[in-house]
Amino acid sequence: MANVKEYSVEEKLSSLLSLQKIESKLDEIHVLKGELPMEVADLEDEIQGLHARQMRIEEEINGITEFIEQKKNAIKEAQALEKKYEKDSENVKNNREFEAINKEIEMQQLEVKLCEKHIKDANEEIAEKAQALEKAKKAIASKEGVLNSKKGELEKIIATTEKEETHFVKQAEAAKSHVDPRLLASYEKIRNNYRNGLAVVPVERDACGGCFYSIPPQKQSEIKQRKKIMVCENCGRILVDSELNDNVEVK
Ligand SMILES: [Zn+2]
Repeated sequence: MANVKEYSVEEKLSSLLSLQKIESKLDEIHVLKGELPMEVADLEDEIQGLHARQMRIEEEINGITEFIEQKKNAIKEAQALEKKYEKDSENVKNNREFEAINKEIEMQQLEVKLCEKHIKDANEEIAEKAQALEKAKKAIASKEGVLNSKKGELEKIIATTEKEETHFVKQAEAAKSHVDPRLLASYEKIRNNYRNGLAVVPVERDACGGCFYSIPPQKQSEIKQRKKIMVCENCGRILVDSELNDNVEVK
């Protein structure tokens, strides 16, 4: 701990203010990107899901097509048997044999009818699946269109802000290393509490620059002295005087 430098309150406030300004620049870039990164990720998930659905339907159609082929073969076999039995019936020796063969022929005819019914049902099922498939394909195409335009928008923003963002991310990291860890923790806590990400604000026109709650003169002069970390009693943000605020610049 020998090398740890004790920072004055003024130094602590300047470091924190500079971190705040750097992070506000990053916040601006994030606002510019808006919901785009999330929208792109959501669309990619949806499209992946639709592709999975498409594949499942295609597999189902293949299965049903195979079933139809089996039934067609069964029809051929039954018809061949029917023919064979018809030929056999020409050489029957008695009534009993004739009856038996006729029964076989009827059985094969029934088999054919049953297979035809199965094929008809299967074809109807395929038609339904084909509709669902078409729907999935259309949904994929339309989602992909939206995805491409969102991606294009995001890429454009990234292209113009990437350098700036990298620059400020590096600066933020460096700035954090100069901020007292306990102060940094409360800064981050306050920052997370507010949508605009402001945890350190100047006193402007006798009021808190974060919530516009008025700051009494006595408190203002204490803030100007920079001897103590002062917070707004209304919003809890850390207050700095406007001069310090003007002096700390980020580029
Ligand atoms: Zn306030």
